[in-house]
Amino acid sequence: MKKFKTESKRMLDLMINSIYTNREIFLRELLSNASDAIDKLYYKSLTEGLSGLTREDLAIEIAVDKDARTLTVSDNGVGMNEEELENNLGTIAKSGSLAFKAENLAENEKIDIIGQFGVGFYSSFMVAKKVEVVSKAFGSDKAYKWVSEGADGYDVLPAERASNGTDVILYLKDDADEDKYGDYLTEYKIKDLVKKYSDYIRYPIKMLVTSYEYPEHEHKEGEEHDHEHEEPKEVKKVETLNSMVPVWKKSKSELKDGELEQFYKDNYYDAKDPLRVITVSAEGAVDYKALLFIPETIPFNYYTKAYEKGLSLYTSGVLITDKCADLLPDHFNFVKGVVDSELSLNISRETVQQNRQLKAIANNIEKKIKSELTAMLAEDREKYKVFFKNFGTSIKYGIYSSWGMKNDLADLLIYPTAKGETVTLKEYVDKMPEDQKFIYYACGRSVDAVKALPRTAAILDKGYDILCFIEDVDEFAVKMLRNYNEKEFKSIESGDVGISSEEVALDAKVAEKVLNVLKDKVKKVVGSKSLKNHPVCLSSEGEVSIEMEKVLSATPGGEGAKAEKVLEINVDHKVYDKLVSLAAADDSSFDDLVYVMYEQARAIAGLPVDDPTELTDKIFDLI
Ligand code: ADP
Repeated sequence: MKKFKTESKRMLDLMINSIYTNREIFLRELLSNASDAIDKLYYKSLTEGLSGLTREDLAIEIAVDKDARTLTVSDNGVGMNEEELENNLGTIAKSGSLAFKAENLAENEKIDIIGQFGVGFYSSFMVAKKVEVVSKAFGSDKAYKWVSEGADGYDVLPAERASNGTDVILYLKDDADEDKYGDYLTEYKIKDLVKKYSDYIRYPIKMLVTSYEYPEHEHKEGEEHDHEHEEPKEVKKVETLNSMVPVWKKSKSELKDGELEQFYKDNYYDAKDPLRVITVSAEGAVDYKALLFIPETIPFNYYTKAYEKGLSLYTSGVLITDKCADLLPDHFNFVKGVVDSELSLNISRETVQQNRQLKAIANNIEKKIKSELTAMLAEDREKYKVFFKNFGTSIKYGIYSSWGMKNDLADLLIYPTAKGETVTLKEYVDKMPEDQKFIYYACGRSVDAVKALPRTAAILDKGYDILCFIEDVDEFAVKMLRNYNEKEFKSIESGDVGISSEEVALDAKVAEKVLNVLKDKVKKVVGSKSLKNHPVCLSSEGEVSIEMEKVLSATPGGEGAKAEKVLEINVDHKVYDKLVSLAAADDSSFDDLVYVMYEQARAIAGLPVDDPTELTDKIFDLI
């Protein structure tokens, strides 16, 4: 017996011991593998011109044997040779390696994560104690059998199979009190599962189905016939269980209520409905249909490198790739869905990027997504807020990283404000009082943090609102925009916030002595009347703001970026009076007081204290 590779073994353990309640999805996984295998063969036949293969012959079959307790899924697709059986089933697939990461999580988190991606072939082991895969690769004359009873290992042996394709034979587990694995041997259950998860599979899924019919009778007109004394006859017929029409090809009248949402949930492994469903049926330069979804749920790996954006791409009814990244711009990387177009079949899986038609589709799709998001913003603000909370960061990065090319995305931005609203930039500008020159913003960890900033009250007093930037990327994104509707963005912490008469002269001696103490630390010291009850605050001049210094100093290579700081002293505050009297008396504690005030201003701005020991020592000295 051969041993599974470590990752595969872990995945198997996870499947075998899974308390995952949604075990029934194993059938969906096997059917979609079968459909992929047929796709691969059909694609080959179209591109390589294989003779004698017609689409009508391609099919998937489900068979049950109640006595042997086996459920078999067969396909006449590409099949696998000995080596492929070994490599594909003995080693974990790509999707599996994600599951493997789930292993160290708590049980309830695990279920969440398992539910979020295709668990693949190994999900068979949620219901089967033994699995056999008999396969013959297309073009080969030898068949092989892969057998495994679980985590211990597997064997690959020579076998018999008439033609190319694969049989996956599940030996179902024994029934237990709560788990009736035998249900998967009933026609009713299988029909139900195929309808639920695999209806759109584009090849027929056939099964021998029993029905009961009364024998035909000749009966005269007007005569009621009654079956009461007759036994119905058992008839077995092969039936196709799926409708084979992909949902995106159905017309509005053919679609059942909630069918598109269900398709989304089943195919993108999300328990929640999408926030918005987008259907596109384009005719013109390129004909295509698209079915797109804006999810509510953030994929568990969304913020990791492992996350892949993309849409499934079908052409001529064949799946070309299930993650065509070129169809989606990065700033819409959260969108899921399908594009179906009659493109030339020569686009191989690798050269998709170079295809002009595909580029045209991608451009249209980007516009369509933008207009749908705009519509959502206008129609349902609450829903849009949920969307923006989960995926708005992507759009902000889109603006930041496009160097001005994607400024039209600015209309999709919403921000909380210090007055407690959530506004678009347009709404902010529309509400600006006539004398307000700038779009004010302030950075902080939360809206409350912004409200507590020394300058906030003075700006609100003028009747101006402030956009609260609570994400690192926010300020970087507006630096790219520079302005909106000709109004310039202005940080309330910058040197010139544009409120008149805010700077007042400091006592000359105080000014000179303060600069002397803080000569390496601040560029300037000014008096202010807009600080309300705060004694000091820090602002900045020049391109790098204090907020940017914070973000940059946390990024490798950005450590040297420093804001040019201005210390503002509230001339209406008692502490200022103290400074004046200490300066006049040339008292040596002046230096300590200035030092403490400076560090206090840093703390309010969210900057780290330079030397906590020195600071606390000085505070005690002063006391
Ligand atoms: P995934 O489908 O996500 O790649 P699976 O674990 O379901 O992962 O399958 C692993 C691989 O085994 C597939 O990628 C495919 O190459 C191969 N495979 C599975 N089922 C079949 C089948 N019925 N016919 C041919 N190849 C198959």
